[in-house]
Amino acid sequence: MASLHFDNVIKRYEHGRQSVTAIHGLSVAIDDGEFVVIVGPSGCGKSTLLRMVAGLEPISEGTIRIGERVVNALEPAERDIAMVFQNYALYPHMTVYDNMAYGLKLRGLPKAEIQRRVQQAAAILELGALLQRKPRQLSGGQRQRVAMGRAIVRQPQVFLFDEPLSNLDAKLRVQTRLEIQKLHRELGITSLFVTHDQVEAMTLAQRVMVMNVGRMEQFGTPEQVYHRPATTFVATFIGSPAMNLLRDVPGARAGALLGVRPEHLRVVPAGDGWPVTVEAVELLGAERLIHGRTHGQPITVRVAESDDCHPAVGATLHVRPLPDRLHHFDPDSGRRIGD
Ligand code: ADP
Repeated sequence: MASLHFDNVIKRYEHGRQSVTAIHGLSVAIDDGEFVVIVGPSGCGKSTLLRMVAGLEPISEGTIRIGERVVNALEPAERDIAMVFQNYALYPHMTVYDNMAYGLKLRGLPKAEIQRRVQQAAAILELGALLQRKPRQLSGGQRQRVAMGRAIVRQPQVFLFDEPLSNLDAKLRVQTRLEIQKLHRELGITSLFVTHDQVEAMTLAQRVMVMNVGRMEQFGTPEQVYHRPATTFVATFIGSPAMNLLRDVPGARAGALLGVRPEHLRVVPAGDGWPVTVEAVELLGAERLIHGRTHGQPITVRVAESDDCHPAVGATLHVRPLPDRLHHFDPDSGRRIGD
């Protein structure tokens, strides 16, 4: 196991005379044994970052250290990392056992040691009964577990996960998410997990790194990025539906953008609070989302289904934010103001 350090890492892709900067000087320290999720929209540089750690993409400037070793110039095989991809890339003609054992055989490990490691990984992943099957005889979730098993048996210093759940259906994603959490609890291996899905980020991470166009917007615990977003980007990217950002509403500080999450608005009696003209209502089961406008700006209010709030489209209701759940941002820089 090892810590992972990025020191002013810059990545430029060169196209002839043109150059695209995909990562703009990233400095961050990931603790030994930590599970970090890198999240952001498509094109923000997540895969580039992961591929630079893996050694699949050269670093333009700066250094990446795994433990005490600067790995910039090391080949992927020398970095002591294991990667799990979204397409499991299992060998179709090999059994589950052989898929997991193959890399160890190539490295010339003794047969008994290979057997021990595969059995141990199979026990952790509950694959013991499937070791003699071929990949085509497995479900998607089981195949992804084999891919994880193949990474575990290598006993790497760092696990790299590249959107490993995106090919699974919604139910399996939840289940596999829980398995990855369990795996991390049992093995405690430093892990870097890339996803564009903020729910995955929030549920898996010990710390979340939120990226936007090649820059880190915030690095913090799920609680920190949710309750104290550093920028309007983080505020609207984390949490669904997104945080409302409003100008010039009662309660906003002069010159600031006021942020309030849909779940932190309360419906109050007429004449009180901000008037909201209802434009659409969505029932999501346990809750209802009311979309409308207040003070000329869009707003979303989330009410519990049990609140029995059924406004008609075109009606006006009144809402008030919970005072200790307000956020303020600088409208120019988008940065959080105050604490
Ligand atoms: P993400 O994984 O967040 O979707 P990427 O790391 O794939 O983002 O891409 C980050 C930026 O780098 C994007 O602007 C993308 O177009 C660019 N990029 C990625 N790979 C290459 C490449 N091989 N050549 C040129 N530009 C690339």
